[in-house]
Amino acid sequence: MSFIDVHCHIYEFDDVVSTINEALSKGVNKIIGVGEDPESNRKLLEIHEMFSDVVYPSIGFHPWEAANASRDDINEFKLQVEKYSDIIVGIGEVGIDKRFVRSEEKIKRQIEVFEVAVRLAREYDLPLNIHCMKTEREVLRILIENDIVKAIFHWYTGSYEVLREIIQHGYYVSVNLSLRYSSRARGVAERAPLGLILLESDSPYYFKGEYATPASVAKVAELLARIKEVDLKTVAHITTRSAQLLFSI
Ligand SMILES: [Zn+2]
Repeated sequence: MSFIDVHCHIYEFDDVVSTINEALSKGVNKIIGVGEDPESNRKLLEIHEMFSDVVYPSIGFHPWEAANASRDDINEFKLQVEKYSDIIVGIGEVGIDKRFVRSEEKIKRQIEVFEVAVRLAREYDLPLNIHCMKTEREVLRILIENDIVKAIFHWYTGSYEVLREIIQHGYYVSVNLSLRYSSRARGVAERAPLGLILLESDSPYYFKGEYATPASVAKVAELLARIKEVDLKTVAHITTRSAQLLFSI
């Protein structure tokens, strides 16, 4: 059985080699690394060079970082996507966050960076790995207006009403260890069809006391199998197939 982690900040681990080996031992054979600013994008590309058949890079600009981005930073992000468009498998982590970012000016900058990311995704036909907090309707509108067909709403915790529209448009949601304790995360997993659900670790991260690594995705799959009342094999098969198609890996 094999799994794919579609959202991991792999460059944040001190020991990348043992993190990857642990993942492989649990059947997590592929990891989509998501960058959050030009510097982490660079680190991610370096890790990809060392583990090219395990770590696939998705270059991004996280909304928390984008809120403070300079013109030079935004240009560098664009240049990175252009330069590595043949290597990268997606664009993200990108998005808009109005829960943790409150200043008008910073929100404006986030939206500007997100719109740059959306244009690049369309130009290079790459899937978007999206972070949205209190902005799901706005983000969805931007995707539709820009004819985006490939996107993941990572760790989606927005309204069920917008979730229905996300599903109608064929966009994905990714779930993680929060399935263990969050009724909203479970509610999203119950409502979305298995064919539009992907597995992620969002690691490194502490999920209420449980430290997530890419290996945790095997456990996320078990939690999802219980919610969907199917066997683990079915979850592994369907989510892996979806991730392979979406990222062309
Ligand atoms: Zn993340």
